Amino acid sequence: MRHFSFVVFFLVGLVTCSHVAAAKQPNIVFIFTDDHACQSIGAYGSKINKTPNIDRIANEGAIFLNSFCANSICGPSRACVLTGKHSHKNGFYSNGLGPFDGSQFTFPKLLQKSGYQTALIGKWHLNSDPTGFDHWEILPGQGSYYNPQFIGQNGRRQIEGYCTTITTDLALDWLKQRDDEKPFLLMCQHKAPHRTWAPELKHLNRYEDIDIPEPATLFDAWDNRSATLAGNAMSIDKHFYYDYDLKVHLPVPFATQREQRLKDGEYRRMTPAQKKIWDAAFVPRNQAFLANPPTGKDLIRWKYQRYIKNYLRCIDSVDENVGRVLDYLDENGLTENTIVIYSSDQGFYLGEHGWYDKRWMFEESLKMPFLIRWPGHVKPGTRSEKLIQNIDYAPTFLEVAGAEVPPEVQGSSLVPVLENPSTAPWRESIYYHYYEHGGEHQVPRHEGVRNDRYKLINFYSNDGFDLYDLKEDPAEMVDVSERTEYAEVLASMKAELSQLRNQYDLPPLKK
Ligand code: CA
Repeated sequence: MRHFSFVVFFLVGLVTCSHVAAAKQPNIVFIFTDDHACQSIGAYGSKINKTPNIDRIANEGAIFLNSFCANSICGPSRACVLTGKHSHKNGFYSNGLGPFDGSQFTFPKLLQKSGYQTALIGKWHLNSDPTGFDHWEILPGQGSYYNPQFIGQNGRRQIEGYCTTITTDLALDWLKQRDDEKPFLLMCQHKAPHRTWAPELKHLNRYEDIDIPEPATLFDAWDNRSATLAGNAMSIDKHFYYDYDLKVHLPVPFATQREQRLKDGEYRRMTPAQKKIWDAAFVPRNQAFLANPPTGKDLIRWKYQRYIKNYLRCIDSVDENVGRVLDYLDENGLTENTIVIYSSDQGFYLGEHGWYDKRWMFEESLKMPFLIRWPGHVKPGTRSEKLIQNIDYAPTFLEVAGAEVPPEVQGSSLVPVLENPSTAPWRESIYYHYYEHGGEHQVPRHEGVRNDRYKLINFYSNDGFDLYDLKEDPAEMVDVSERTEYAEVLASMKAELSQLRNQYDLPPLKK
C-alpha cells in the first residue's frame, strides 16, 4: 500500500511538473528599428558593414530571408505588427492620416490578459497614446537623435545623450524593476537609423578613411519599367538637402534652392560641448568638399558616401545596444526562456536604383529583417525562405503566450515554421499595398503580389501593371509584363492578386 501511494504521488508529481514546464510562458524581447535595410546586416550578407550582435540572434536562432512588410512606411508597418492585420483592416493607412485606433485588438492587450507584464520604450509614431502596455515611454513623433525628449505616463522629460543608448537604458531599467515571477513583453523600438542619420558622437570618424562599395544600380535611369518611377523625388542625385541630410552646414554656392531648403535640426539640439566634437569631425570635411567640389557622377558618388557612412554609423550604435540587451539576458539567467526578435519597420534604399527612402514594392524596401532566437524551439543556424510578413508577428506572440488568436487577425503564427522549418505548410505569396500618393517623395499608390519567383505591381492610379522575374532579374530593372513569353505568368499573377484581395477582404481600388 505504501508502495502504491508512493507511485501515485510520483506520477501526479511528474504530470504536474511537466504541465508547469509546458505552460511556462516565454518572455519576449522585441527589438525594432526604423528603416534598417537587410543590405546592412551581416547575417543577410552585407557587403558594406558588420553587425556582430544582431548576427548573434541569427546564429543562435533563425534568419528569415523572405520577410516582408505589408505597407512600406513607418506608422502603417507598426499598426500591422500590433494588430496582425493589413492596413485596410487596422485603419492606419499612412503616416499623415489620423491617429491609430488603440481601442481595437492589439497583441500586447491579450498578452496582458494572459499574465504578461508589458512595456514599450522608444519610437511609437502612431499619433496616439499606446494601449496594452503596463509601462510606456515613447519618443514624440519621429523623435530626436541627440538629447531626445520622451513622453511617459507621467509626462514629458528630456534626457541628455544619444537616443539609441538612452532607449536601451530605459528598457534595461524597466527589466531590472519588473516582477520576476511573471513573464514579460518588452518592445524596445529605436529611432535609428531613420533620416536624418545623425550618428553617436563617438562614431563620427568611423569609415571616414574608406570608400563604402556602391550598389550596382546607383546610376539607374528608371527606364524599361513603369513611367511613374522616373517621377520619383528620392534620388541621391537630386533630392538630398545639403544641410539637413548631408551635414554640410556651410553655404553651398552650387546648391539649388530646393537643396538648401531644410536645415539640420539635430545639430541645433546639441550642447556646446557636443557641437565641438561634431564640428571637429565635419567642418574640415565640409571645407575640403567646398574647396574642390566634385561634379556630375562624382558628385552623386560623394553624396552616396556622405549618406551611407552616417547611416552605417547609426547602425553601429544599434548593434552595440542589441549586444547590451543580449548580455543582460545572459547575465540574469533569462536567455533560455526568452524569445529575442530583431526586426525593422521596413527596408530602405541604400543607393539601389539611385535612391534613399522606402515606400516602393521593390525588394529593398519591401523586405524587413526578421531574426529570432528561441532556445529549445528554434534550431541555431536555421535559415528560412518562407514568405513571412509583419502581420504574422501578433499571432506568433499570442500562440507562444498560450492566448487565443482572434478571428479578425489576418496573419499566421510562425510557431509551426520555427519548430519545423522544412515541413510546416505555409503561404505561397504575399499581398502588399502602399496607400500614400505623391507627397514628399512622389511615390504613387500601388498594390501587388510576390511569390518565390515573380512580383506583380499594379500602379493603379498611373499606368498599370509591372511584372518582374526575380530569378532572371533580381535587381528589378526590366518590366516583362508585355513580353509574350510571360503572358501565362502575367495571367496567373493577376489571378493570384485577385485571390489575395478576396482572402484579405480588400475594398475596391480608389484611383
Ligand atoms: Ca520606417
